[in-house]
Amino acid sequence: MIRANDIIDKVADYYPAADFDIIRKAYAYSAYAHRNQVRLSGEPYMIHPIEVANILAEMKMDVASIASGLLHDTLEDDPMTSLEDLSLRFGDEITALVEGLTKISKIKFKSSREHQAENYRKMILAMVKDIRVLVIKLADRVHNMRTLDFQKRERQEAIAQETLDIYAPLANRLGISWIKQELEDNSLRYLQPAMYREIEEKVTRKELESREFIDKTIKLVQRNLTHSSIKSQISGRLKHLYSIYRKMVRRDIAFEQIYDIVAFRILVGTKAECYNVLGIIHALWRPLPSRFKDFIGIPKANMYQSLHTTVIGPDGRHAEFQIRTFEMHQIAEMGIAAHWHYKEGYQLDDHDRKQMDWLRQMIEWQQDVDNPGEFLDSVKIDLFSEAVYVFTPTGEVKELPSGSTPIDMAYSIHSKVGDHCSGAKVNGKLVSLRYQLKNGEMVDIVTSNRQHPSKDWLGFVKTSKARSKIRQWVKKEEERRSIELGREFCEKAFSRSKLSFNQALKSGKVQAVAEGFSLKHAEALLAAIGRGKLTAQQLINRIFPELRKSKKGKDKAEEKKTIRKPARDGISIKDIDDVMVRFAKCCNPLPGDDVIGFITRGRGLTIHRRNCRHVDQANSERYMEVSWNLDRTTAHVVKIRVMCADVKGMLVAMSTAISSQEANIASASLKTTIDQKALCFFDVQIKDLEHLKRVKMALRGVKGVYQVTRMS
Ligand code: MN
Repeated sequence: MIRANDIIDKVADYYPAADFDIIRKAYAYSAYAHRNQVRLSGEPYMIHPIEVANILAEMKMDVASIASGLLHDTLEDDPMTSLEDLSLRFGDEITALVEGLTKISKIKFKSSREHQAENYRKMILAMVKDIRVLVIKLADRVHNMRTLDFQKRERQEAIAQETLDIYAPLANRLGISWIKQELEDNSLRYLQPAMYREIEEKVTRKELESREFIDKTIKLVQRNLTHSSIKSQISGRLKHLYSIYRKMVRRDIAFEQIYDIVAFRILVGTKAECYNVLGIIHALWRPLPSRFKDFIGIPKANMYQSLHTTVIGPDGRHAEFQIRTFEMHQIAEMGIAAHWHYKEGYQLDDHDRKQMDWLRQMIEWQQDVDNPGEFLDSVKIDLFSEAVYVFTPTGEVKELPSGSTPIDMAYSIHSKVGDHCSGAKVNGKLVSLRYQLKNGEMVDIVTSNRQHPSKDWLGFVKTSKARSKIRQWVKKEEERRSIELGREFCEKAFSRSKLSFNQALKSGKVQAVAEGFSLKHAEALLAAIGRGKLTAQQLINRIFPELRKSKKGKDKAEEKKTIRKPARDGISIKDIDDVMVRFAKCCNPLPGDDVIGFITRGRGLTIHRRNCRHVDQANSERYMEVSWNLDRTTAHVVKIRVMCADVKGMLVAMSTAISSQEANIASASLKTTIDQKALCFFDVQIKDLEHLKRVKMALRGVKGVYQVTRMS
């Protein structure tokens, strides 16, 4: 079993000035937190975090990563460990790493279908604020895969599949090729055991067979490079199992049909030497034209740099050469992890952060970008920092722009779901429509048939799909309301002139007038009237020009009056301009009251207080949302009832109080009751709700006044 000192020795090798104490502390803390846990192998659980830390030390990661490797399971496994506790003992940096790791471990991967796997990977990337979290997570997975034997068969398969679908590609994106290869090979071992054994056996045999070929080739290259005084390190090996397997499956060929199974690697000092060596190889053997790739000129998205060429080598056998500098090789093997190897301090400076951002962008781009055209195309893909990944109740992952709301999610499911979205349950809790979804949340959309899109939604939705669907709905709704209003106005105007609007409509005369205004159909004309762009009187004048001649003067005056003075009096109606309104007598709404509009047959739009007893919400399609336009208000009559003592001078005192608030009294009446009290009724002209409050307050200030109520 590895001890703390073994890890410390490793770290001391590449970073002698490191804070070893923190590693010792993390070791002790983890050992205590896991003291009662046992692995499936029967060993103490502590073996696992130690091995993870050891892998990280071998990768020459920084001390914070190694300490976090030791602590990575404490938060989840030990009820006594808390974020506060960790932060107190190890500081914010390590705590944030452990917290990030715990978050990832809580994501449940339900679906392993390929298109979902990509979204899971993106979700993990989006959740990771510090790329070191991902490196530690990969080290964790490496060790879990190494010890998978102890799991039950189904668990083995599930974990191996998840590793293949999610973690191996992530390792690739971070450019850590040794992890990618080990994870792939180990996954195959459990997913296709028979196939794995077969390939393993053949590779071993092939390796023996190829020994002579490899040695011969290396010697030949070495001689030529020395001749050109290039210092180099050359190695030859067989490709890793999974890449052979994939080639067999992809091309549907047998192991024996794979020719370029041997790969040579030449490491040199400088970039210029790489191209020199390439020239030498191509002079020795004929290259296969389609197999040359210059990843030095155009690096892969994961920072990988190398020249690749396949030649028809000695004995006519295919051989692949990878040519790169030592530094490029370090990055090829370690990827982003190589970054910490070169670091001396622990704190990330701005430059590093920029590099992280850059990396975040790069790893988002499609992996294995092989040609320059594709590479440039991939630059245009949205950066994932601008995306949020959430689960549907069935475990599918949805990708949405960050800041997206339940409405965006609903529209991404189906436009009907969006149109009726009334809220959502996030991780089981109800949230509002404005709620901004966060990574990894499980979102269950709540719908209701009574719910409809609203113009307000446009203020907070993020997706263009939601935006355009809401606009569509609002426009359609506005059209519907305008037509309805237009019809009401027409019916009223026609009946005033003792005409039948329905007859005019049926006879096609309205249609003809519509065409005269270059409108497509009668409904468009009604909508124009509803919006106040045309008047019902204009329609009548067009249909019955003889009426107009006979009482020309009067009609003209009326028409002018309507146009000059839109009767809406301080009310603005949602999505509709210029309609006529009146105020309900039953509840006398005041500016500032919560009001609603009701379409009355033959009377246009009537404004009621929302809590008026005449408002019947069951008849909801005839109601319309309206609001006060407070800079256009005029006085409204409000009935006020005052109960007071029946004493002399009361009426005068109350009238004075009302007038003191600059309110006019339209009428007043008084009646006495048997118990020495009086009831007074005032009709007062009030500007708005605020004004009413002041008047009521003034009345209450009068001596002898018991109760002041607004009547409805
Ligand atoms: Mn673990």
